[in-house]
Amino acid sequence: MALIVHKYGGTSMGSTERIRNVAKRVAKWARAGHQMVVVPSAMSGETNRLLGLAKELAPAKSDDSYSRELDALAATGEQASSALLAIALQAEGMQAVSYAGWQVTIKTNSAYTKARIESIDDQKVRADLNAGKVVIITGFQGMDEGGNVTTLGRGGSDTSAVAIAAALKAHECLIYTDVDGVYTTDPRVVPEARRLHTVSFEEMLEMASMGSKVLQIRSVEFAGKYKVPLRVLSSFTAWDIDIDDEAKSGTLISFEEDENMEQAIVSGIAFNRDEAKISVLGVPDTPGIAYQILGAVAEANIEVDVIIQNISKDGKTDFSFTVHRNDFAKTLELLKSKVVPALGAQEVTGDAKICKVSIVGIGMRSHVGIASKMFGVLAEEGINIQMISTSEIKTSVVIDEKYMELAVRALHKAFDLDQPVN
Ligand code: ADP
Ligand code: ASP
Ligand code: MG
Repeated sequence: MALIVHKYGGTSMGSTERIRNVAKRVAKWARAGHQMVVVPSAMSGETNRLLGLAKELAPAKSDDSYSRELDALAATGEQASSALLAIALQAEGMQAVSYAGWQVTIKTNSAYTKARIESIDDQKVRADLNAGKVVIITGFQGMDEGGNVTTLGRGGSDTSAVAIAAALKAHECLIYTDVDGVYTTDPRVVPEARRLHTVSFEEMLEMASMGSKVLQIRSVEFAGKYKVPLRVLSSFTAWDIDIDDEAKSGTLISFEEDENMEQAIVSGIAFNRDEAKISVLGVPDTPGIAYQILGAVAEANIEVDVIIQNISKDGKTDFSFTVHRNDFAKTLELLKSKVVPALGAQEVTGDAKICKVSIVGIGMRSHVGIASKMFGVLAEEGINIQMISTSEIKTSVVIDEKYMELAVRALHKAFDLDQPVN
């Protein structure tokens, strides 16, 4: 008998029929003798619907009082799906109870719409598990010190599930979704993409942070920090398939580098359309410039990604960086109103029609020429590279958004990712 956490995404919870299917699958695992904790997302489309209603009443704002209400609103999606799953499990003859994050309690900081989990109280959950109940805990949300409901950012139910698995020292956390594992790239963009049987934790971390939304980045960070065994698998298989086969299906996020993994130099391609580029032009090239620009941005709680500073000419330089598209207007405004006048820079420009494409693989550590091969493939397609950033196991480029799919397909082919690994 083991303690297992299952997480079901929005599509997997998308209708009462699908919820019934989830309930049957969970009941199968519980009847096999496991203690079950289930973390559902809101039914598909529900989070967007709720946030859309807010937007109808007031255009998006960035102040705390507005964000607080957005979280109170969006969190209801997961509360509904959790209660529905408990009802479906009870209809299957199981004992089941659902809790919202604040009832557990899952404590977070107060960064509304992108809160971070700080602690999870496991007492209530353990008592219920010991009493033979299936425990359902809402994904995506928690409560801050002041008792306010918070949410963890889009895709945050993955993080809830892994954090709960870590707190309960679960045997494994299974992320059930609408694809049957982690692929070499998004199979919806490249139909030739292949499922990976295992992917190293480090590669998964890079892929998630570079935009593969199959797992939210913070869920992978949690899994790494607390060594939570993590698997991504399909919720669309028949619920009554053999449990041992099911337990081995999908993609395992592995903490050990096995020999097979070493063979692929590039394991996956990630892309992200959620960023925007900002350039501050004609900045005096003196010490402290990066700090003055990016310090002000960080103070406004805006995360910066790729950064480049050009070689200076006549004592002036250009400084560019990317931010999340949601923060684009806010960053431009901040720079124009405060930073540029103080710096004496010439101009601030922005471009929201960009995307970032990244190749990821631990094999890149021990092989040279991988980045230049990437640049060559893009050149052959006539795609201009606007920015480049690298780490030990990835190379990312920022390009015009309209070339994203072309770039991903060309790179996928050039790095033989459509070919089976022996
Ligand atoms: P859920 O609602 O279950 O959380 P998401 O939509 O958040 O599901 O994540 C699953 C989706 O992630 C898939 O449908 C797929 O389009 C996308 N995806 C992006 N990159 C990958 C990848 N490398 N492997 C598998 N799926 C990917
Ligand atoms: N329902 C939330 C979202 O749509 C959280 C999640 O699905 O993981 O982003
Ligand atoms: Mg998701």
